[in-house]
Amino acid sequence: MSFLPAQLIKKKREGFSLNKEEISFFIQNYTAGKIPDYQMSALLMAVFFKGMNDDERLWLTQEMLHSGVVVDLSRLSQFKVDKHSTGGVGDKTSLILGPIVAAAGLVVPMISGRGLGHTGGTLDKLESIPGFNTQLSIDQFIAALEKYKICFIGQTKEICPADKKIYALRDVTATIESLPLICASIMSKKLAEGIDGLVLDVKFGSGAFMKKLEDAQRLANGLMQIAKGAGKKVSALLTSMEQPLGTAAGNSLEVEECVAILKNEKYPDIYGNDRSDETRLLSVELAAHMLFLSTQFGDLQSCRKKCEELINTGKAYEKFLELCKLHGGNLDLLPKPKYRVDVLSKQSGYIAGFNTEQIGWCGVKIRAGRAQTTDVIEPTAGILFHAKIGDQILAGDPLFSLLGADKPLLESIQEELLSCVSFNPQHVDKISLIYSVIN
Ligand code: URA
Repeated sequence: MSFLPAQLIKKKREGFSLNKEEISFFIQNYTAGKIPDYQMSALLMAVFFKGMNDDERLWLTQEMLHSGVVVDLSRLSQFKVDKHSTGGVGDKTSLILGPIVAAAGLVVPMISGRGLGHTGGTLDKLESIPGFNTQLSIDQFIAALEKYKICFIGQTKEICPADKKIYALRDVTATIESLPLICASIMSKKLAEGIDGLVLDVKFGSGAFMKKLEDAQRLANGLMQIAKGAGKKVSALLTSMEQPLGTAAGNSLEVEECVAILKNEKYPDIYGNDRSDETRLLSVELAAHMLFLSTQFGDLQSCRKKCEELINTGKAYEKFLELCKLHGGNLDLLPKPKYRVDVLSKQSGYIAGFNTEQIGWCGVKIRAGRAQTTDVIEPTAGILFHAKIGDQILAGDPLFSLLGADKPLLESIQEELLSCVSFNPQHVDKISLIYSVIN
């Protein structure tokens, strides 16, 4: 069936729904280079303003998914499950829950991303381990999953090429923040993994892309509807990104924190505070939901117990070491930061909140992330968090430590980091990490 792109753009601009054939026509011809960027930009802007109904979102996702290869894991008999997080600062749970779930016997095919904006990316964290190679072919990915039950790769050129092209266009046409477009972009890549189930960690708060809880709820519902429409088992946790997660943000530092948790050890900061308990809590909770979706481990409480047991017995850590080996990584060579600059509070009071997004940008400025796509990350650069919302602080107490290889650069960020903290003279309640679960 053939259509005129301008007529479809007009139809959407006037608020009408596009049917399956119309969406297929647009996506297929754009991916093949037969519809130019300017017409796709116009359609994206029309979708931005007029939205898409549930059917349109599902068709768009399926069309983007089938623009490339869908990993065929049918020869693996185990339940295949992944987690997707909408991203944040210090969000490192994949490195913990992946090995836990694989050690439980399920298959965890992870197509992960790099840092995006102020948030970190799983591939960058793993690549801080010397030798760790995430550039595997799809055949190598499947072979590794068969042997080890877990493997991490990035979006290859074969996977969702339509998303790759459309995402780059959205980035420069101010059409990123559109719920149907975000849902289709995320879910097409997740469905390409050949999964049976998916757990979503949808974040809200000052360090999340969705600042408001209601927006995160809408995103979670949109993502879940597509997953269900595609016949997958799915659940979503709404979790707080009002403050950075755990003790560390920064690639090799986050690996250290994850390794400590997997070894069932503490990861205390230089002042003896252990903030990694919240990283462990969230990782175990997400892993438990992944096991629960498989229906092989009983109720959620039994799934949590199973995850804790896999950490306590060292099985999850063994799986992490196997993962490093299969990717060629040598954990013994994990680099250590050369310098540490402590950032001390200038005032006393209770911590009322953080500008967590700006903390993430501070991380980018000290080279824990990329300001431009061509930037090279310093693997040891990062920030340690010594204080959390609700803590009572005295002037002179440490709030953060900046770590990395360039001392003047670390020192230049101190004032900006301090400006990311707000205080209250009166008591402030601690905040809970997990807000709600949608099944
Ligand atoms: N992550 C994605 O993969 N796509 C989006 O549109 C937004 C976040």
